[in-house]
This record gives sequence, structure tokens and C-alpha cells, in this order.
Amino acid sequence: MTTISLRDEAAGLLQELIRLDTVNPPGNETLVAEHLRRYLEGNGVSCELLARVPERANLVARIPGTGDGPRLLLLSHTDTVLADPGEWQIDPWSGELRDGQVWGRGALDMKGQTAASAVAIASLAREGLEPVGDLIFAACADEEVGAGFGLQWLVEEHPEAVRAEYCINEGGGDRLVLDGRAFWICSTAEKMSAPFELTVHGRSGHASRPGIADNALVKAAPLVERLGVFHDEPELGPEVAAFLRAVCGEVPDAAEAVAAARAVHPLAGDIVEPLLGTTLSPTMIEASQKRNVIPNRCEITVDCRILPGHTQDEVEAKVADHLQGAEYDLEWIEAQGGTGSPVETPLWDVVGSFVAEIEPEAQSVPLLLSGFTDSHWVRDAFGTVAYGFFPMRAMEAELAARLIHSADERIEVDDLELGVRFLRHAATALASLP
Ligand SMILES: [Zn+2]
Repeated sequence: MTTISLRDEAAGLLQELIRLDTVNPPGNETLVAEHLRRYLEGNGVSCELLARVPERANLVARIPGTGDGPRLLLLSHTDTVLADPGEWQIDPWSGELRDGQVWGRGALDMKGQTAASAVAIASLAREGLEPVGDLIFAACADEEVGAGFGLQWLVEEHPEAVRAEYCINEGGGDRLVLDGRAFWICSTAEKMSAPFELTVHGRSGHASRPGIADNALVKAAPLVERLGVFHDEPELGPEVAAFLRAVCGEVPDAAEAVAAARAVHPLAGDIVEPLLGTTLSPTMIEASQKRNVIPNRCEITVDCRILPGHTQDEVEAKVADHLQGAEYDLEWIEAQGGTGSPVETPLWDVVGSFVAEIEPEAQSVPLLLSGFTDSHWVRDAFGTVAYGFFPMRAMEAELAARLIHSADERIEVDDLELGVRFLRHAATALASLP
């Protein structure tokens, strides 16, 4: 009998997952859930498929704990964004292995981590790992759209399936080299995504006689311009302060933070800039549906990202202040994320000890994510300590960031192997905690 390496096992599994089209919408994540179930059960890991509708199943697998030790959840999502084959060098669902990279939609976001997590729990099961607390693997549907089929639904309808003290998810693991020093980024908190719509009112009329109407589009124009130059009062949350301390050697004033980070490396400045306050980006506008009708209303959609610890009410007041008495109605569209986990935890020690093992001279640093992931569902529901960390060093972080949700997405097999190594390290380190 030949035994294949964990590296080849993860690459092969990822190729298979990419070939199952789970573009969301519509999702069809059951294809991946069933495939993972066959793989995991074949390795002695018990599985359950939990689904709100049959074609959108979530898979939860576990190695049961021998006692009441802390549970570790290896979390991932199985849906992907769409891909336009015309933009790609190769078929986005080929899963082709080329020059040490697996190509295809989802390779980075995030079937690579899904495959690595599955191989980690499968290999530990083969080796007879007996953790004190459960080791759980959850591959969830519907992260990219978030229409209530994935982790949100699991947390509400099957909380015992995914309840855990610790969770490792997507959203971090970048290796940055700044001024000759290496930093491994672990995301421990996320901004809140809270888009809103501003409606400006006017009076409709025939476009041939602009003088007697009150054009809502024209009234909205200066508001769009003002929103585009909004800068929040800068402040340093604990994660950004920790990042700056590591990178700059000290924590600068909030007002100086971007300049101080940029002085070390331009990339550090770019990272810090959106993390110092709430950001506003007007992205969509709607007014008249007819060329010859002056609109009586104009709706501006604004993408808004709020720092943890701040509320939508506060932002509403800041927007009013910034728009200097303009008349409009503001309506919030939704609010997601905006949660964080503390940094001084056993899971942080696991990240730190892993970095020390693979690159002793490097430093692990926490960071706030400007976007959000599924982590907030378990943080909110169970108080889970959830971090985003999937280490990558063969592919540069900047290239990876460019490929996510874009053409020619691919992952280095070296990074897949490193990911398996980290997840096994985390599971074995936490397995012995009482
Ligand atoms: Zn993702």
C-alpha cells in the first residue's frame, strides 16, 4: 500500500472541490458537502449534513472529546463568487494543478482552507487523536451572499452542532515583510458593514422646463461629493494599536498613525488607514427612470464600515454634521459584523507558537479586518474566540489579495501544506487543554 503525503492529499481534495461548481447564487453547496462526507467518513470521522433546503447543505463533522475540554471549530464556507471564464487563462472549474499551484474559483476563498481543514481532521482521526474537547469541522453554505442558509441558520437552528470555545476561520494568515521584518497577520476583529440609503426629495416636472421643478438629482450631487470626502475622527482600537506597536516599535497618536505606519512601509499605511474610523463610500445612485422627467427623489446608496464599539446612531449624527444641515432621509439597509475576540487567549498562543516554529525571527500580530466573515455569528451566539488565520508564504499577500474574487484565482500547494500543518498544530495543542 502506498501512503500519499498530506500535501498531496490536500491538493487532490482541493482539485475535487473546485470541480464542483458552487457559485452562489444559486450555491448548490450540497455537492461539496456530500463529497466531503464521503472523504471524512472514509477516514473514520462522523458527519452530519444539516440543510434548510436540500440543495444547500452544511456539513458538520467531529472527533468527539473524551471530556469537557474546550471545543475547537475549524470553520469554512463552501460557496464561491461567480467566475467569467472569458477572463481566465484556464477553465475556472478545472482544478488544474500547474507549476505547483491549484487553479480555480475558490482556491483562495476558500476551498483551499476547507480542504486543508478536512485533511487536518481526517489525518488526526487516522492517528487516533483523542482530544479532551470536541474537534469540529464545519463547511458551511452561503457565506458570499448571506441569505440565511449557512452558519447563521446553523447557529439559530442547530446551535449544539457548531458551539465551540475556539474557532479558526478565514480572513488572516498573510505574511507581510515591512522594512525587512516579517509579520504574520491574524485577524481577531472585524468592522461592521452597515450600508445605508440617503433619499433626497424634490419636485418632479418636465425636463424641458427646469425652472419650475425641483430636481432631486441636482440637489443630491453636492451630498455625494461631501460623502466622498468624509474622514472620521481617527482613533486607535486595541488591534490597530497592537499592529502599530509591532510595526513601528511604539504606538503613535491616532492622528499620526497613518504617517507613522507609512514611514515604515507604504503598505503598512494602506493597511492602517481604513481601520482608524468609520468609512463611507457612496456606490450607487438612482433618480428618474425617464430622460425627460425631472426626478422628485434621488437615492444614494452608501457602503459604510463602522469600527467595533461604535453604533449606527453615532454614525448617523456624524453624517448629519458632515452634510451641514442638508435635507434627506437616512435608512439603514443592514448591519453585519463589528465583533472581535480578545487577543490574550490560548488560541493566540497557538498562533504564536506556530509562527515561532516556522519562522522564529518573525512576529505574529493581531489586526482588525476592514471586511467581515462568518466569524461574527459564533462570536455573537456563543462568545467563541474566533480568529482568521490560514498561513500563506509561498504566494505574496498582495498577489493573493488581487486574485480573490478575481480571474486566475489559484493557491500554492506549498501554502496548502502549510495550512494543514497549522490546523493540525492548533488541534493538537488545544486537544490537551483541560
Ligand atoms: Zn470567503
